[in-house]
Amino acid sequence: MVDYLIVGAGLFGATVARGLMDSGKSCLVIDRRHEIGGNCATTRLNGVVVHQYGPHIFHTNSAEIWRFAQRYCEFQAYTNTPKARTKSGLYSLPFNMHTFEEFWGITDPEAARKKIYREEAKPRPVNLEEKAVAMVGRELYEEFILGYTLKQWGRDPRDLPPSIIGRIPVRFTYDNNYYDHIYQGIPKDGYSALVANLLSGAEILLGIDYLLDRSRLDKMARHVIYTGSLDALCDFRFGRLPYRSITFDTQYMPQENFQSHAVINCCSLDEPHTRSTEHKHFSGKSSSCTYVTREIPCEYDGSNIPCYPINDHTNNELHAKYRSLVAGRERFSYGGRLAQYRYMDMDMVIAAAIKLAKKLNAKYA
Ligand code: UDP
Repeated sequence: MVDYLIVGAGLFGATVARGLMDSGKSCLVIDRRHEIGGNCATTRLNGVVVHQYGPHIFHTNSAEIWRFAQRYCEFQAYTNTPKARTKSGLYSLPFNMHTFEEFWGITDPEAARKKIYREEAKPRPVNLEEKAVAMVGRELYEEFILGYTLKQWGRDPRDLPPSIIGRIPVRFTYDNNYYDHIYQGIPKDGYSALVANLLSGAEILLGIDYLLDRSRLDKMARHVIYTGSLDALCDFRFGRLPYRSITFDTQYMPQENFQSHAVINCCSLDEPHTRSTEHKHFSGKSSSCTYVTREIPCEYDGSNIPCYPINDHTNNELHAKYRSLVAGRERFSYGGRLAQYRYMDMDMVIAAAIKLAKKLNAKYA
C-alpha cells in the first residue's frame, strides 16, 4: 500500500507528488493517457520540442514559483509576442502601439486612445463583447476578437463571461509582451521533462482509467488525490460540466521555416483554426524541417480533450453542486484545472499543488 494515489500525471498531480515525496511519503501516480504531462505535454520530433496541446509559455510574478520550477528543469528565456492574422493583414499582439501603428498608421498614443475609446464603455461589462469593446473599442473588437471568439468558444461573445478576455493587456507603449509578469520562459527540454523530474521517485502507471477501476485502485493507497473532472467522478449525477475542446492538427513540413514566428492567432472566420504554432521558433534552434500545429476548436463530447471550462453562471453553479457532493469524502482531495473547473495558468497550478501538499503534510505529519 502507498501513502497517496494521485489520479492524473499533469502539472498539478506531479507537483503535489513532489511535495509529498519530499516529506517522505510514497506516491503512485496514474493517468489514463499513455504519457505524462497532461495538457502541457511535449514531445521531441527531429530535435524540435513540440507542444502537443497548444503553446505553453510559463509566466509568473512569483519569485517563489519561478525558483521552484527552475529546480526541476533548465528554462530558456522566451517572451510571448504572438501575431494576429486578420482579414486585412498580420498585426502585433497584445494590443499595443505596434498594433495601432500597423492597423491605423498611428504613432501618437493619444491619437490611438481617441480611435479606441469612441464608444462609451459600459462601466460594468456583463459579457465578453462589452468587456472587449471597453478594452479596445468596436473596430478592433470586430477585427481581432469577434471571429476568434466565435471560433474558440462556439458561442456569441454576448453569451460569454467578461473574465475570459480580461487577461489580455492593452498598452499605449511599444511593448509586444503578451504577459504582464516578471518571469517568463519555456523549459529547454519541454514540459514533459519538467513533469518527469517532478515525478522522480514516484511509481507511475500509464494507460489506467481510474474511473473504470476505482474500488480496486482506492484500496492501494491511504489517500486519493484526484485531478480529473468532478462530474465524471460523480457519475454525472447533476449533468455534464461543459468544456470547449480543441483538435490539435500537427504537421511535419520538410522546410526550414513556415511562418517565421512561433504563434500566430487566426482571427478571421475565413480559416477554421484559431492558432497556428511553429514550435521551432520557441527555441530559435535551427533544423532542416519544421512542425506546425493548428488548433481547431470544437465541442467537448466526453471523448475528446476537455480544454477550457466555460465559466458562465450556470456552469459555475453546477460545479459548486459537485464540489459539495465530494466535500465530505474521507481520505480524498482534488485539485488542478479540470477538478477546479477553472482556467488556470501553470504558475497557479503549481501554487495550488504546493499548497495542497503542505496541507496534507501537516495533516499526516
Ligand atoms: N482572443 C481573441 N483574439 C485573439 C486572442 C484572444 O478574440 O487574437 C480572445 C478569445 O476570446 C480568447 C480570449 O481572448 O478565448 C483569451 O485569450 P488568451 O490568449 O488568454 O487565450 P488562451 O491562450 O488561454 O487560449
